[in-house]
Amino acid sequence: MKFSELELKKDLLSAIRKAGYEEPTPIQEQSIPVILEGKDMVGCAQTGTGKTAAFALPILQKLTVIKRAKTRALILTPTRELAIQIFDNFKKYGRYLHLRTVCLYGGARRGPQIGALRRGADIIVATPGRLLDFMGEELADLSSVELLVLDEADRMLDMGFLPDVTRIVESTPSERQTVMFSATMEKEVRKLADRMLREPVQIQVTPENEAADTVDQKLIFTSHEDKREVIVSLLTDEAVESAIVFTRTKHGADKLSRELKRRGIVSVAIHGDKTQGQRQDALNRFKSGKIKVMVATDVAARGLDIPKLSHVFNYDVPEEAGAYIHRIGRTGRAGESGIAITLCCEAERDALREVEELLEKPIPELQTQWSLPLERKTRKGRGHARHGRGGRRTGSQRRGKQRGNRTGAENRQGHVTQKQRAGGASGGSRRRRRREQGPRPMPNINNGRSERENVSDEFRGRGGYSGSYYGQGRGR
Ligand code: AMP
Repeated sequence: MKFSELELKKDLLSAIRKAGYEEPTPIQEQSIPVILEGKDMVGCAQTGTGKTAAFALPILQKLTVIKRAKTRALILTPTRELAIQIFDNFKKYGRYLHLRTVCLYGGARRGPQIGALRRGADIIVATPGRLLDFMGEELADLSSVELLVLDEADRMLDMGFLPDVTRIVESTPSERQTVMFSATMEKEVRKLADRMLREPVQIQVTPENEAADTVDQKLIFTSHEDKREVIVSLLTDEAVESAIVFTRTKHGADKLSRELKRRGIVSVAIHGDKTQGQRQDALNRFKSGKIKVMVATDVAARGLDIPKLSHVFNYDVPEEAGAYIHRIGRTGRAGESGIAITLCCEAERDALREVEELLEKPIPELQTQWSLPLERKTRKGRGHARHGRGGRRTGSQRRGKQRGNRTGAENRQGHVTQKQRAGGASGGSRRRRRREQGPRPMPNINNGRSERENVSDEFRGRGGYSGSYYGQGRGR
């Protein structure tokens, strides 16, 4: 499917093109029409599925229809990192629209956020605590909200935000449209949806991190130079019926495809520099079984309707850990088994560490004649052993443990900083701020690690969490 088939406006399509997206992701394909139609919706999807654009694009489209001075869309999200990420996305997708987005979260100076609110906010992206503070001081007015998004609802509940969220939602008009996203659909989340949404359309995308459990994953430590030999030998194994070989770059995909051809393995290469026609043609040949190997980059593979595969090979370890889950999810679908083999050279060990932290287990090694005895890297100062965090734990154990992992110094520092920044606050709002500033509760699929780091850098580059940032919310 193409974005243009989703009946999005030209300005949004231009922004999507500029963002480099080629096709909508499954959650976008399903959610955008529902939200544009004005229906309530519950989406079971995690970060990494493209869920932010799934709600941001239709919201931006709806807000351009009539212009008013008041806040018409509110996005509630549990942590300031997510708030910043969502805010950044609204900025990216709304770059050609004249809408003002304001981002409110705890643990940062209030002044710039108040200033931004006073200048007017068509869209507010907020964590519950800071928004409630501003509502109490009559700085934020939700009486004209038409669209409400409850993002990462399960995490908001886990973090104890239910009372805050309830108070906020009750301050919005009851005839609003409400959209909720949650990575899990536990009983408490369903109860929340029953209370706050009206006959919602339910949308679920395959929870891709579950694929990690059904796929037989293997790792080969080898040198950069020997990767070609390894991949040729893997691809010529008769067990390989159909395979995708993922590379990091377009250039790498072309080069490898050429090399495979030279070695007698016919493949198609799919990446962002190919025209839609070329890609479709390659995909058809691959799907029909005429060609059993496809070499692809992550961006090109995202959103493509690729049939079930016997093997996925990661010629390069993906830079973004979430992409690993996405890649291996191409095999072992619907309970069937699949095999995913990752080649890792010395320089890729940091990326491997991220992947294994996300998986919460090491990928078992496969010995070949090209194997190298490389050691895994550990995160400095964390002191955990060779294989990240070890065995699987339940969600609550995981979250509990992570909180526990925080050192006293970190907690104290966070607390003092908040107090200093906020200039003193009531016990209730301090507690809320602490929650909002809390550590990342759990590793998440494609949590946009590098993206978030970029966001932070962007902030730092502008002199910290300062006022000038908010002005950027207005599109050109
Ligand atoms: P999200 O799940 O919203 O956090 O998005 C995860 C990542 O996917 C972000 O880096 C987005 O910029 C990216 N993304 C969102 N939609 C698309 C798309 N249609 N094609 C490629 N990348 C996308």
